[in-house]
Amino acid sequence: MSRVALVTGGTRGIGAAISVALTKAGYRVAANYAGNEEKAQAFNKETGIPIFKWDVSSYDACVEGIAKVEAEFGPVEVLVNNAGITRDGMFHKMTPDQWTEVIGTNLNGLFNMTHPVWSGMRDRNFGRIINISSINGQRGQMGQVNYSAAKAGDLGFTKALAQEGAAKNITVNAICPGYIGTEMVRAIPEKVLAEKIITQIPVGRLGEPEEIARCVVFLASDDAGFITGSTISANGGQFFAG
Ligand code: NDP
Repeated sequence: MSRVALVTGGTRGIGAAISVALTKAGYRVAANYAGNEEKAQAFNKETGIPIFKWDVSSYDACVEGIAKVEAEFGPVEVLVNNAGITRDGMFHKMTPDQWTEVIGTNLNGLFNMTHPVWSGMRDRNFGRIINISSINGQRGQMGQVNYSAAKAGDLGFTKALAQEGAAKNITVNAICPGYIGTEMVRAIPEKVLAEKIITQIPVGRLGEPEEIARCVVFLASDDAGFITGSTISANGGQFFAG
């Protein structure tokens, strides 16, 4: 029987590409989303991938949502923590809500989603956790103190949990995308994108969501069993992590 994969924020952008790539690779995929019904329904209609709505910033909602997925498909063997948001602003203008919302989804979401599946993975002696962090968690980005802090936290989470999972054949890895052409990035004014961002990317273009999805498919596979606690930087040469 093919493995079950759960992708948070799996209906749009990078997450949608991940859901589709894992399906093509033979996984049974469940795609979570937060509330954009129109996009989620359209994704479901186009791909046939089942969709499940809950908010990853709520632990109780994650427990309930994962229970629904597992009742339908069986235990989650591959978890892709992809859901993420931005609430940008310079720090002196940043509100407590901007801070809390970004930490809630982008960092607490990893605990909320991973904790409920962890014991089962330990019991079954197999698991793959793949966390989508960001180049801006590696290097810090002005105007994104909240987002950079959360995404850097995701990397600490990955490295620590990898050590706990290793003896149980559970790998925990992170991917740090650079700028990928999703709605999140297309929301940046075109002039800023062309003059300030693309000029900083040595390959001279934005990344494609499918390029991140292919990294996920590899990390989920049996071929990647010796890779844990690692970070794949997929950023067109924009930043080299030490
Ligand atoms: P999008 O904004 O295109 O899609 C975000 C997805 O996450 C949507 O499916 C959304 O659901 C879901 N989501 C948001 N908040 C929650 C929540 N609280 N609970 C459940 N689902 C939620 O994002 P991207 O595809 O651009 O980004 C995906 C990931 O990649 C994020 O973690 C982002 O930080 C990271 N990343 C993106 C980069 C980029 O250049 N795009 C660069 C580096 C990292 P809904 O549709 O219902 O709102």
